[in-house]
Amino acid sequence: MEVRSREFEALVEKAESFHGHLCSGLYIGARMAVFAEKLLGIDSGEERFMVEMETDRCPADGVLVASSLSIGRRRVKMLDYGKCAARFYDARTGKGVRLRFASNLIPAKGDDIVEFFSEVEDGELFRVEEISKEYQSYDLPGPMIVETICADCGEPVQDHREIECGGRALCKPCYEKRAMTSSGMA
Ligand SMILES: [Zn+2]
Ligand SMILES: [Zn+2]
Repeated sequence: MEVRSREFEALVEKAESFHGHLCSGLYIGARMAVFAEKLLGIDSGEERFMVEMETDRCPADGVLVASSLSIGRRRVKMLDYGKCAARFYDARTGKGVRLRFASNLIPAKGDDIVEFFSEVEDGELFRVEEISKEYQSYDLPGPMIVETICADCGEPVQDHREIECGGRALCKPCYEKRAMTSSGMA
């Protein structure tokens, strides 16, 4: 999809109504998603297009809307590293790209955000890094594969989100509570 196309503009408008306002971060997120499709050579509508978000700020919404992804369909994971970056993968091949906003170009107050950034090439906006990831069946869209009962709280934990601790399976909150206690922080 061309950045200067009506199609892309429509995506940005859709993102704006979802997010509540049009800001540079939202626009940057939308550009990331479309650039990632181009780099990976797959459409975001395909089930194998997977995303890991490194931020929980405005760009996250731009990525979600531009790639028509939703958190509940298991194709987006929030890593939330506090960085303006996202990782995109082809779950079938494991190949991926990490895109980080690495430009100091920011529109001035009153500038038209879409017009401003549409003059800037993807390569100028983002630092591209080739990455890879081996997806496990229990991380992919589809029915739940396995359920484990936490040895401390007794609550069910789906799809291997438990952590082994001294031969017992614990949910993450229980594991963290134990780690805090044993390090003397609690
Ligand atoms: Zn925003
Ligand atoms: Zn637990």
